[in-house]
Amino acid sequence: MRAIVVERGESQPRVVDVERPSAGENEVLVRTLRVGIDGTDHEVVGGSHGGYPEGADYQILGHEAVGVVEEATGTDLEAGQLVVPTVRRPPDGQSNEYFDRGEPDMAPAGAYVERGIDGAHGYMAEYFTSAPEFLVPVPDELAETGFLVEPISNAEKALDLADASRSTFEWSPESAFVLGNGPLGLLTLALIEQRDVDRTYGLGRRDRPDPTVDIIERFGATYVDSRETPVDEVPDVHEPMDLVFEATGYAKHAYETIDALAPNGVGALLGIPEPLAFEIDGGRLHRDFVLENKALVGSVNSHVPHFEAATETLLACPDWFTEALITDVYDPGDVEAAFEDGDDRIKTVVEFDAP
Ligand code: NAP
Ligand code: BGC
Ligand code: ZN
Repeated sequence: MRAIVVERGESQPRVVDVERPSAGENEVLVRTLRVGIDGTDHEVVGGSHGGYPEGADYQILGHEAVGVVEEATGTDLEAGQLVVPTVRRPPDGQSNEYFDRGEPDMAPAGAYVERGIDGAHGYMAEYFTSAPEFLVPVPDELAETGFLVEPISNAEKALDLADASRSTFEWSPESAFVLGNGPLGLLTLALIEQRDVDRTYGLGRRDRPDPTVDIIERFGATYVDSRETPVDEVPDVHEPMDLVFEATGYAKHAYETIDALAPNGVGALLGIPEPLAFEIDGGRLHRDFVLENKALVGSVNSHVPHFEAATETLLACPDWFTEALITDVYDPGDVEAAFEDGDDRIKTVVEFDAP
């Protein structure tokens, strides 16, 4: 079967022929429909994030997938059912307390591998296998968009953590600011638009006309250009924010978020930056943080409940949004084009099969 891999020592993905996997005991064989590409995939290909499965000289890429159960192998799933796989698995197939509790997204490094990212093959192949507890059933109408459940689930988890940090007092956010107009930022904006938040803002660094700015504005959110209005000046230019969601991966934004927040506000950080040294007034930020009851939460990955919430969120997204977000759909043979970057593309997808 065809699989998109990155080989050791290479920094370009390519299509190779690999053996079709067969489902072992308590494993399901899934026929892949679509696999999305995000910033993390580019980092994996470039070698700055993740790693190869032990002993393998290549890694099958892809962690945002939707597929159809081909062989249910006596599990509770049914052949023909549409499923979305989660990302983390126990290392060496040995479960541990985090997986036993259903919280692998809270596991420390070493207690998990990530399919398509770190230490395990991913889903960019015609078929993949998985234990059934890591496959989330989704309705048939998500055959073309279901790969978006994974990135939305990352945002769901981050917002859960943010909400939890504000749960000991009366907190009803009226303003929310999403930093980043990549796929994660735009999907988060779509999620926040479904909540009861009065005013929303989205940050980018692009000139109009731009398809991501169009999406921000079509949601009725205010576009903030960081070249004109740095994140820490947003309270003066617009208003202090009750909720900030960072999805740029630009390390300064983590600290500027403290200034962007209103008293009692919370910032959720999702970007995964490269090392970056810069100066901040730590004393002022610390003082502000304490005297204004602010919170910052870091959040990575997600698990089944977040995938279930993300499925509902995706079902409630307007069609215009998913149509505008999914800009490019490629055959596996066009892998080079699929991994190209450009301001005209937002979410690029590799399509292995149609439903
Ligand atoms: P992406 O496609 O790289 O998007 C990042 C966006 O941020 C880009 O549109 C970029 O604008 C914008 N940006 C960067 N620096 C900026 C600045 N100084 N001012 C304004 N805009 C800026 O990545 P993604 O897939 O959406 O993911 C976003 C980040 O979250 C990445 O760091 C990724 O690794 C991380 N991530 C984390 C999780 C998690 O579970 N924590 C999950 C998924 C992704 P331009 O395109 O104009 O350069
Ligand atoms: C994936 C997460 C993963 C994170 C860190 C993100 O792109 O969507 O599932 O935990 O990268 O590797
Ligand atoms: Zn991802």
